[in-house]
Amino acid sequence: MNAQELNAVHESYAGLEGRELLEPLIRDFKGRLAVVSSFGAESAVLLHMVAQVDKSTPIIFLDTGKLFWETLSYRSQLIDRLGLTDVRSIQPDSVDLAIHDPDGDLHKTVADQCCHIRKTIPLQKALEGFDIMVSGRKRYHGGARKNLTALSLDGARLKAEPLAGFSALDIDLYMATHKLPRHPLTEIGYFSIGCEPCTTPGGSTDDPRAGRWAGTAKTECGIHWSHNGSAIDGPQPAPSVH
Ligand code: SF4
Repeated sequence: MNAQELNAVHESYAGLEGRELLEPLIRDFKGRLAVVSSFGAESAVLLHMVAQVDKSTPIIFLDTGKLFWETLSYRSQLIDRLGLTDVRSIQPDSVDLAIHDPDGDLHKTVADQCCHIRKTIPLQKALEGFDIMVSGRKRYHGGARKNLTALSLDGARLKAEPLAGFSALDIDLYMATHKLPRHPLTEIGYFSIGCEPCTTPGGSTDDPRAGRWAGTAKTECGIHWSHNGSAIDGPQPAPSVH
């Protein structure tokens, strides 16, 4: 998408949120739009909205190799329940892992680099060819996310966050209304769910991400860094690898 088209799209859909934004984007940009989902604590809401519009929408799921088995199970459950037909489980490059994380414990020493090879690089590759990336982040999650807008430009790609304005209550109501299954770990106190070594139970509706990288300064994995490497809402990216 060139800059002119990107700006025109941005202006056309400005002011829309939720399904009102998602539906026209999916219909107007079929084949050029991908959704990124962690199949985490609140993911069912966005995935349900997507399925209501087009079950064949590409969904990118980053299987870092460090996820809870409950997340993998929940992914299968939601795919069946929602009828999603194009969920792409993306894994880290085996060469990157062999060189930089042969023992699988890089998360203990250089977490940013671990996220870089297990999340950021695989996502960048998976998004090649897509002009629009949709994710389910919300302002109520706090930190730099409190400034999220439903649409933003990122280099040659448009980022859409249809749920940016959703509150914890909105999420709960949507889940209940549509009888969506919950991630099993939410029943034992996990508010936000990422990789197993870096996620602990805890958090609250005031600080739902408190259990992510708890006790460290890290708050984001890096997949939402801007195209030019500047931090949108997280630490600076780790150095490039091979
Ligand atoms: S969240 Fe933890 S285990 Fe997962 S990629 Fe990042 S540092 Fe590695």
